[in-house]
Amino acid sequence: MEMEGIDFDTKRKELVKYLVASGFLKSGNIIEAFESTPRHSFVPEKVIPFAYEDMALPTVKASTISQPSTVATMLEILGPKTGEKILEIGTGSGWEACILSKCVGAKGKVVTIEIDRDVADFANKNISNTGHKNIINICGDGSVGYIDEAPYDKVIYTAAAPEIPRQLILQLRINGRTVAPVGKDSQVLRIVDKLSDSKTEEHSYGMFQFVPLRGMLGF
Ligand code: SAH
Repeated sequence: MEMEGIDFDTKRKELVKYLVASGFLKSGNIIEAFESTPRHSFVPEKVIPFAYEDMALPTVKASTISQPSTVATMLEILGPKTGEKILEIGTGSGWEACILSKCVGAKGKVVTIEIDRDVADFANKNISNTGHKNIINICGDGSVGYIDEAPYDKVIYTAAAPEIPRQLILQLRINGRTVAPVGKDSQVLRIVDKLSDSKTEEHSYGMFQFVPLRGMLGF
């Protein structure tokens, strides 16, 4: 959708410039993916004028489109690469899924799962409008991962989880990585690297605010 009087391309370039200058965006493939994904096509009409502000915005029901600097931070930590298969838990608007799909390219795949039917329908519509072919979007409870498409090179949560469950690590390839906001009222980003079938290495980063994960292993 286009709106009279708003130059979306210029606004998007300015946002990316800010994210690079502030140190949120660093990697060439992630910068390119941000630059070529029209965030204004993933929000409801009434918030389109704010699409290129660095803020989370309401979308459908309790869902939000995440804040660009937060997505940039998480994706830099996740490190998506060409050809990888990535699971995203919490599709929301589908914006982050599209950024990921550009990072992994045509040889890679993004599997994204959303628990709320109306939100999943909204994302479906947004994703099909952008014509991405390497995204599978599922409506279901991602708190247990998504076994049907496992194993994954990377897993990213877009909603705050009480913890990263064992099931999730089992769905990761060796040398794979999971990034998730963990905590109830505010969250740290928990980063889990799977070194072998029995060994993981974990660390935490920063302080953030996400909507809570629902479902069987959610809040
Ligand atoms: N990154 C997304 C925003 C996601 S908001 C974007 O930029 O648009 C988090 C989403 O996680 C919400 O839409 C919420 O409905 C969804 N969610 C919460 N619990 C979930 C679960 N157990 N499985 C799948 N999705 C879940």
